[in-house]
Amino acid sequence: MSGRGKISVIGGGMSGICAAILLARAGYKVTIYERQDRIGKKILLTGNGRCNLSNEDINSSFYQSPDNEKLKRVLDNMSISERDVFYKSLGISTCNIRGGIYPVSRQASSVIDALRFTLRELNVNIVTGAKAISIRKDLSIVFEDRNITAPADAEAVIIACGGKAGVYSEDKENGFKLLEGMGHSLNLTYPALTHLKCEEDLKAVAGVRCDAALSLKTDEGTFRETGELQLNKDSVSGIPVFQLSRYCRELSGISLEADFLCFLSDPRGAYDTRIQMYAGRQLEEFFAGWLNKKLAQYLIKRSGLRPSDIVRECDMKKLYRTLTHCSFKINGRGNYREAQLMCGGVPLSEVSDSLESLRMKRVYLLGELLDVNGACGGYNLHFALCSAFAAYKAINTKGAAADV
Ligand SMILES: Cc1cc2nc3c(=O)[nH]c(=O)nc-3n(C[C@H](O)[C@H](O)[C@H](O)COP(=O)(O)OP(=O)(O)OC[C@H]3O[C@@H](n4cnc5c(N)ncnc54)[C@H](O)[C@@H]3O)c2cc1C
Repeated sequence: MSGRGKISVIGGGMSGICAAILLARAGYKVTIYERQDRIGKKILLTGNGRCNLSNEDINSSFYQSPDNEKLKRVLDNMSISERDVFYKSLGISTCNIRGGIYPVSRQASSVIDALRFTLRELNVNIVTGAKAISIRKDLSIVFEDRNITAPADAEAVIIACGGKAGVYSEDKENGFKLLEGMGHSLNLTYPALTHLKCEEDLKAVAGVRCDAALSLKTDEGTFRETGELQLNKDSVSGIPVFQLSRYCRELSGISLEADFLCFLSDPRGAYDTRIQMYAGRQLEEFFAGWLNKKLAQYLIKRSGLRPSDIVRECDMKKLYRTLTHCSFKINGRGNYREAQLMCGGVPLSEVSDSLESLRMKRVYLLGELLDVNGACGGYNLHFALCSAFAAYKAINTKGAAADV
């Protein structure tokens, strides 16, 4: 094993770092080339600084990709016990918070430290300020800074340049030019796990948080999520909106419908009973104990009614419709800096099940640069690690065969 070759890893994010650790442990001489001044910068931002590493419930339904069958095979590259053993081997103990797997330290910075210290102990070479711009056929890498070089005799190159979301204010292209230079294509990319802007003026309800069942209507279908909705002056956000933003490939003609009575098992029955109970109240009093006051006033006005109207004299059917089908026209979303994820990227059809490029042999594509996006809840860091396992297993198997 000690005679294993060199591996170049482009990109020191979660997927590149984990691949480097797995391969260095297998005896490879690994170098990470990172264009920023430090590796793992994005990890610091994850899970609101707590780093939601994975989830107790992992299956392909939590991911979106144009090639779902291949996605299932890619996810099979790492079992749950391999994930757990890997984190344990880094000294990271995990805990389960409402299904999400977090480090017990609840600190993203402690995850980066555990990764960095392990890299150091494995003698993984880290070159920062190294922006890769192309890969030659002999697997040597060309960097923007011509003083930086990478070996031409590498056994494999791992491209783990990530997506455009999060920390990148400048140079949003990342590794995409490099990938295009290899003959890869790029499915439409857009920011996701972010807020959605709406045409409606929501100033009156800005700051309100409430439970809602949301239906996003797009040309590709209707997608549903339930959870805590946050209303801002010109946008909606919160976990269910973040999840739905993954389906907003195009923004035109998209609407979001909210059902604010989703907390009731029999909303119609409960509503009718309430009408009987409070027939003499003003509308603004009708919702006391049910809805946020500002939200109630907003919904009353959106139904063409006045807060001072008396329940028995109002068109309560119309109000019910607004309460259960309140529609918002979507006309924008958060930008990459505000988003947690980039959707789109290199199609899975251009890589093997073990993520080897079908355009250039011995080059592996990992993590967010692929057209696979996971839901909120640890699914994207899980995919980053899973893709590292895919490349590690393929390279190590080939290396083991060559050793014989
Ligand atoms: C605010 C925020 C919160 C998040 N929270 C969570 C969470 O809690 N749980 C979860 O599962 N996911 C979360 N995510 C998503 C998750 O962080 C990413 O999906 C994951 O980190 C992607 O890992 P990666 O290795 O593919 O890419 P990245 O982490 O983006 O790493 C890519 C690296 O490559 C470098 N690079 C790029 N181009 C080049 C080049 N040409 N040459 C050399 N280096 C290059 C970059 O500088 C970067 O360091 C969050 C994202 C954000 C932005």
